[in-house]
Amino acid sequence: MALFGFYRCELCKEELFEEKYFCEECMEELEAYLLMDRLEEEGYYVYSLFFYEGIIKDLIRRWKFHGASYLVHPLTELLCRFIRENDLFVEAFSYIPMHRKKKFIRGFDPMEDLSRNLAMAMNKEHLRTLERVRKTRPLYPMKPEERKRELRGCFNAIAGGEARRLALVDDIYTSGATTGEAARSLFSGHYQEFYFLILGK
Ligand SMILES: [Zn+2]
Repeated sequence: MALFGFYRCELCKEELFEEKYFCEECMEELEAYLLMDRLEEEGYYVYSLFFYEGIIKDLIRRWKFHGASYLVHPLTELLCRFIRENDLFVEAFSYIPMHRKKKFIRGFDPMEDLSRNLAMAMNKEHLRTLERVRKTRPLYPMKPEERKRELRGCFNAIAGGEARRLALVDDIYTSGATTGEAARSLFSGHYQEFYFLILGK
C-alpha cells in the first residue's frame, strides 16, 4: 500500500510526500512575509515574526475564526524556528488570554493552545500568568488612546511568578495597547522578566 498523500500543504492543499506543513512554494511565500521585528519597551521586548498581511493574515484568521484549531501546529513550528534562530532565551511559555466567556463561545483560546504547544515542543513549562477579568469591546475601530482606556484593568496577574524568563504569545500587534496593559499587570504581579512573541504586525 502506498503511503503517499497523507500530508497536504496547509495553505494550498497540494499533496506532500513527507511529513511537513507547507509545500516548498508556500514556504517561500511565507518567508516573503517575515518581519523579524524587535521593539524595545520599558522593561520588556516585543518580537514580531511576520507582517500581518496576505497568507499570514489568512492563516491566522482561519485558525482563530474558522474552527481550524489544528493550525496551531504549523504556527508552533514557525515560532520554534524563530526562537531558535534568534537565540531567544525562554524558561516558560505563557499567553495573553481571552475572556472566559469568549473562550466558551469559541470553544478554545487560540493563544493558550499556541503557548501550550510551544512549551511541549521546546520542553519548557507552560504557565497561566494572566486572566482577563473584564470583557473589552473590539479594538480595531479605536485610536491608540481609546484602546489604552478600553483595556485599562482588564487583566489580572496570577500569582506564582518565580524568577523565570517568560515568553508570552499573542497573535497581532497593532498599537501596543494590549502588550502594554499585559506588561503593566505582569509587573504589578511581580513578574520581572518577560517578552512577547507576536505572530503578525
Ligand atoms: Zn502549498
